[in-house]
Amino acid sequence: MSDLYLKLVNTSLGKQAVSSLGLPAPIELERWKRQDQPFLEGKVLLGAGPRPRALATLTDILRSSAGSLHIAEGPESLNESASATESGAGKAVAMDEETLSQHRFKALILDATGVKDTTELRCLYDFFHNSIRQLAKCGRVLVIGTDPASCKSPARAAAHKALEGFVRSVGKEIGKKGATAQLLWVAPNAENQLESSVRFFLSPKSAYVSGQPIRIGKGGSKGKTATNTNAPLTGKVALVTGASRGIGEAIARTLARDGARVVCLDIPATMEDLNRVAEDIGGSPLAADITEDNAPRMIADHLEDEFGGIDIVVHNAGVTRDKTLGRMPEHFWDMTIAINLTAEERIDEELSERDLMRENGRIVCVSSIAGFAGNFGQTNYAASKAGVIGYVESMARQLKNGITINAVAPGFIETQMTAAMPVTIREAGRRMNSLSQGGLPVDVAETIAWYCNPLSRGVNGNVVRVCGQSLVGK
Ligand code: NAP
Repeated sequence: MSDLYLKLVNTSLGKQAVSSLGLPAPIELERWKRQDQPFLEGKVLLGAGPRPRALATLTDILRSSAGSLHIAEGPESLNESASATESGAGKAVAMDEETLSQHRFKALILDATGVKDTTELRCLYDFFHNSIRQLAKCGRVLVIGTDPASCKSPARAAAHKALEGFVRSVGKEIGKKGATAQLLWVAPNAENQLESSVRFFLSPKSAYVSGQPIRIGKGGSKGKTATNTNAPLTGKVALVTGASRGIGEAIARTLARDGARVVCLDIPATMEDLNRVAEDIGGSPLAADITEDNAPRMIADHLEDEFGGIDIVVHNAGVTRDKTLGRMPEHFWDMTIAINLTAEERIDEELSERDLMRENGRIVCVSSIAGFAGNFGQTNYAASKAGVIGYVESMARQLKNGITINAVAPGFIETQMTAAMPVTIREAGRRMNSLSQGGLPVDVAETIAWYCNPLSRGVNGNVVRVCGQSLVGK
């Protein structure tokens, strides 16, 4: 269902009306449009706190973009990068209000990895105080910190946890511009794992993700990870459940766009739609009810016979069966847990026992913000989606061979599921986030494609919310 209010407020008459009535004025988000589109265009301002560890990696990544790199003058830590200016690293920019006012930045990036205690958090203020006002529409703020779990001293851990509160608040302040803010917590010596995440979070592909802390580790695999940036999943086989429509269809299309051969699974009753999606993307349909006793074996047999194994599994199929607990029929409870949670575990178990997940494989689960916050009338659904988070966090510690597992937690996404909501609940769902609008299925799909990228091997055990920074949940 399309968001008429979003369209209306972006007409000149609508703009006047919402401003005089003080109503939310969401901006149409910039999304990724064409295969050869660079991940970033426009001016980028890069700064650093004391002893930055990621500056060289960031500079390399940014130089491979279509953006023009500007380096914040000031802190000693940037001297080296600033002196590289003449060799083409970037133009030095004084951080005073007057100089900055001559620029409009598409991205503001701060390397805060070296902050050693809370007094050094001052680098956040020094870098962003004047520059934040120069952030462009649909711009990006990225803070790179150190994973607090890897910090030995409490003072250092506190400082790096503080970055989370900072980024979440910045996301709320810049959301009205359609802009987003993220925090990448990189483990010591894992700076070379930043590339896929920096590219994703600076690009229009992450349009509906904001206020998220992401942990990046060293990655378990030593295998080859060089990829074709336009089709990073070339040669990979992916299984997507619930692929006949909605978010699952968008995931199948996006992974196919990125080069994967996609096996599109859905229940037999959806065969017509499933065939259409599979045919459109050069994939293959697989009709199965994932809760059937023999489903995991049948799926594994199919993947083994047709492809000799599998690289990517996306557990997307899910249902809601809402009722307050005292009125909930037994089968509402049972089927919601069975489809949304137990089936995922059973399929993964079968694939793992038969050693069908290939080296550097990717498992992605679809949770929900209801899994964080709970929801009236959704005890069954919220339990299943919180269970997904627990499953991902535990599995991430056990998987070997470079295989990663992560989850997305969508908020309000424009699908048949949300179109069926009563109008007042639907409107509230759409507006109660920093971007004041619902997301699109493709926003969830792009986040999953980032997890699946072979270069995302250091991204493991994360649950990233695709919710426009919803006010619901943590
Ligand atoms: P959807 O349009 O209802 O699509 C889900 C698909 O999964 C349907 O085709 C469905 O088939 C299929 N499915 C259901 N039970 C199955 C089973 N036993 N075996 C195989 N396939 C089965 O849902 P969606 O809105 O795209 O949501 C996709 C995922 O995102 C779900 O996990 C959902 O919980 C999650 N999510 C969605 C939102 C949102 O705003 N839309 C928000 C948070 C999380 P039938 O329904 O035809 O049986």
